[in-house]
Amino acid sequence: MVFLSNAISNARIDASNAQDEVHHESVSTTIYGTRWASEDIPRFEMPQLDGNPALNLATFVTTYMEDEAEKLMTENLSKNFIDYEEYPQSVELCNRCVNMIARLYHAPMHSADEEALGCSTVGSSEAIILATLAMKRRWQNSRKEKGLPYDNPNLVLGANCQVAWHKAIRYLEIEPREVECTEEMLYMDPHKAVELVNENTIGVCAILGSTYTGHYEDVKTLNTLLEAKNEANGWDIGIHVDAASGGFVAPFIVPDLEWDFRLSRVVSINVSGHKYGLTYAGVGWAVWRSAEYLPKSLIFNINYLGSDQASFTLNFSKGAAHVIAQYYVMIRLGQAGFRKIMSNLTATADHLADKLRSTGRFTIMSESSGRGLPLVAFRLNGQLHYNEFDISTKLRERGWIVPAYTMAPNVEHIKMLRVVVREDFSRSRCEILVKDILAALHSLDEVDSLAIAKKREHHAKHSHSSLFSNNPNKPASKASKETEFNTTEDPKKPAQGIC
Ligand SMILES: *Cc1c(COP(=O)(O)O)cnc(C)c1O
Repeated sequence: MVFLSNAISNARIDASNAQDEVHHESVSTTIYGTRWASEDIPRFEMPQLDGNPALNLATFVTTYMEDEAEKLMTENLSKNFIDYEEYPQSVELCNRCVNMIARLYHAPMHSADEEALGCSTVGSSEAIILATLAMKRRWQNSRKEKGLPYDNPNLVLGANCQVAWHKAIRYLEIEPREVECTEEMLYMDPHKAVELVNENTIGVCAILGSTYTGHYEDVKTLNTLLEAKNEANGWDIGIHVDAASGGFVAPFIVPDLEWDFRLSRVVSINVSGHKYGLTYAGVGWAVWRSAEYLPKSLIFNINYLGSDQASFTLNFSKGAAHVIAQYYVMIRLGQAGFRKIMSNLTATADHLADKLRSTGRFTIMSESSGRGLPLVAFRLNGQLHYNEFDISTKLRERGWIVPAYTMAPNVEHIKMLRVVVREDFSRSRCEILVKDILAALHSLDEVDSLAIAKKREHHAKHSHSSLFSNNPNKPASKASKETEFNTTEDPKKPAQGIC
């Protein structure tokens, strides 16, 4: 079974430490947490190596250790996570991850009655569906108790939400109440969100790291406004934070930003272990503030070898290797390692944004200095005979995959390009990208509109398309609306998700 883990309260840990040994942790970082990933590699002079351990050859040993992480995963590929009897240590590592993540998000841990709960999932999508289900069931239970109708639940969220939310809403038959984006605000306005809340609202979703522009939505203001509205109406509506991308960035880069369980109305949070959690695709996490927010009727309790185990999951079998790998990454890097890597990514993103801005050709749409995700979203200045999609196509000739896409409904006329700065996007690679973007601009400047039109036609004809998703008898506009990003302008072609 995939187990629902209790995050152990400080009181219980203190009690156990009083009888037991205290654990000391020693961590460093990978190559991507060092100077070598955020500064240009020396070209003219042999570098001075000072006493910083992160700058000596140990960093390469660290790379070798990451190979061991792959080896660790390979060794565990045959394990089914549900087989608690056979692989109890996998469950133990999952419990540890939940504990660490719950603490990272400041879950209340004062007493044994106030312990957070969490579980591993296949990714944020499963976590989002589980969290939405919990909010819906809790709302229904409370309505039933009061003898009120419970057949018309709604969820408030920004129109910039990720496709996982559309799935959750549709699968669970919930009315979406979307806050439209505007040119001034390409993510959810908390004031407008709270205006949409009514007695049938099961929760409000806030995104920590919008997939379009990387913005962190203002959860604190949302919390204050929702608290007031709850109080005025005698409601108990909570916030779910979709921290799929930001959950492993914000705690290390902007630790004072309040978006998590420090806020009273935040009842659950999801994060993708396979995004900035630095683990291969196949792991995510859902954490609830306390048992109160996870209706018991959703949890399957099994008595296993004399101990009670609780399970909350959509699927039965899944691999254990990703959970084990996530634990490896967390103890391998520690908070210090994550901080170094995320700082480098932020510095690289800022550098790229500065370089692009200084060309005078682009407007940067994303945040900088760690106030948003380490990504750069940018659009062309002025009216030209080519657009962002043409730049994307041109860059493809040099091997770069930089998606162009249109914004969320209501602001879909805004086109953008986006570079997500991930661990292996070092400063030197960034310099090459900037050069290639400039070269693409110059080359497009020189050709006329006719040549651009021809190129688009050629691209449309020869780029990859799927027989299954490209059925001309189906309304294409509906299909593309359901996709998170429209990365193609041709309505006959399927949009490609890029997350
Ligand atoms: C990626 C993402 C998701 C979906 O997460 P998966 O882990 O890919 O299932 C949901 N919400 C946001 C904001 C995301 O960025």
